Amino acid sequence: MNHQTQSLYSQLPSVDRLLNEPDMEPLLAQFGQHLVVASLRHLQQQARQEISQFNRLPEWSHNWIEAVGCHLMQKQRSGLQPVFNLSGTVLHTNLGRALLAEEAIDEVASAMRYAVTLEYDLDGAGRGHRDNVVSELLSELTGAEAACIVNNNAAAVMLMLAAVAADKEVIVSRGELVEIGGAFRVPDVMRQAGCKLVEVGTTNRTHLRDYREAVSDNTGLLMKVHTSNYSIQGFTSAVDEQELVVLGRELNLPVATDLGSGSLIDLQQYDLPAEPMPQNLIAAGVDLVTFSGDKLLGGPQAGIILGSKKWIEKIQRHPLKRALRAGKLTLAALEATLRLYQQPERLAYSLPTLRLLSRDAIEMKEMAAQLLSPLQACYAGHFTVQAEPCLSQIGSGSLPVDRLPSYALTFEPKDGRGRTLEALAEKWRALPKPVIGRIQEGKLWLDLRCLEDESELLEMLLA
Ligand SMILES: *Cc1c(COP(=O)(O)O)cnc(C)c1O
Repeated sequence: MNHQTQSLYSQLPSVDRLLNEPDMEPLLAQFGQHLVVASLRHLQQQARQEISQFNRLPEWSHNWIEAVGCHLMQKQRSGLQPVFNLSGTVLHTNLGRALLAEEAIDEVASAMRYAVTLEYDLDGAGRGHRDNVVSELLSELTGAEAACIVNNNAAAVMLMLAAVAADKEVIVSRGELVEIGGAFRVPDVMRQAGCKLVEVGTTNRTHLRDYREAVSDNTGLLMKVHTSNYSIQGFTSAVDEQELVVLGRELNLPVATDLGSGSLIDLQQYDLPAEPMPQNLIAAGVDLVTFSGDKLLGGPQAGIILGSKKWIEKIQRHPLKRALRAGKLTLAALEATLRLYQQPERLAYSLPTLRLLSRDAIEMKEMAAQLLSPLQACYAGHFTVQAEPCLSQIGSGSLPVDRLPSYALTFEPKDGRGRTLEALAEKWRALPKPVIGRIQEGKLWLDLRCLEDESELLEMLLA
């Protein structure tokens, strides 16, 4: 080690000396001795590395206390940071899907704070079942005899298959062998549940006779999967649930359908594209219907299985149910969300998911007009800022081809360089409340559909 390097090492202050600096007191009071010491050690390690690699002290080392403060503040940031979702996708899986209604938030807080009657029956003072309350609400809303609640819809499908058709054949159309992002693929889930997938028909056309011809002594279930994240167009033909139910009755086989999203209300009354409704399938005689709690339903992450008493009881008794069951926070949020559906006329206000989806483009256009001039004034140096029409997506594999008219603020770099655009997106991602947009056609787009507090956004973007 040369003389100069040695002198750099000797300039590093000791942990003890830094701890005793008077300026360190506020940090010690805020974060406590343990975290401050760990942070000091981390920074010292970083400084030593800088010396050994580049033969210099790090830039921040002229003010250790400030560096410790920054480091601790950064580490203190929640891993689940609130962001502005201006991506244009309302139910964005990577941003946590549905925003919950205030009623649901209150119920969750209360279930966290107090002991609750999760599996306790106050009338009989005996043991209740955790799914009972939600199951009753779902029966009222959908006409299903019973329901089972699990952690998410992937779990609902898996449990339903394992309980109803393990070691048996499950017949599915080749047009419906869906993959839903990542590891949920119908053939894989079948295998995991111990079922044998029997594919029938072709990618674009499947007929009732295809199902009938595939039935064997070992068939356990006829199943439909909603092709929620793609659409097959052109020369197509599929067998709907109603026809499948007739065949199921004739052959004494249960019929199930996985809706993925599923909506408990007719979305067309809000000028939104139609999405299958669980209650219609129950009415058509489908034995089991599965869907998500945090897609169009607008509730917490959960999987819902609706069906006849006979099948739901069998599902409730399966050992996998214990592994996949929902916790009290999920059940509290789901119950409160479902209660909102008992007043459907208020739903477009009370349910954030529907409120955002049903927003008229005029509303976003007005917001864009208001935000435009202050943002232009601030960003004019490097960007052309405009208000432009755009199309939002519902997201989460709901209604893949349909787009909702909306309005966006767009930022186009005056130097025309993609790097300038990337740098802006990165800067916004580093804000105290990060702003998430989308880059498209050489511009950064901020779709205002999910913006409910304009002044808060302005404060961030002008900072
Ligand atoms: C989204 C979806 C699932 C998975 O639901 P999660 O709640 O994300 O687990 C399963 N099936 C279909 C058809 C879906 O669209």
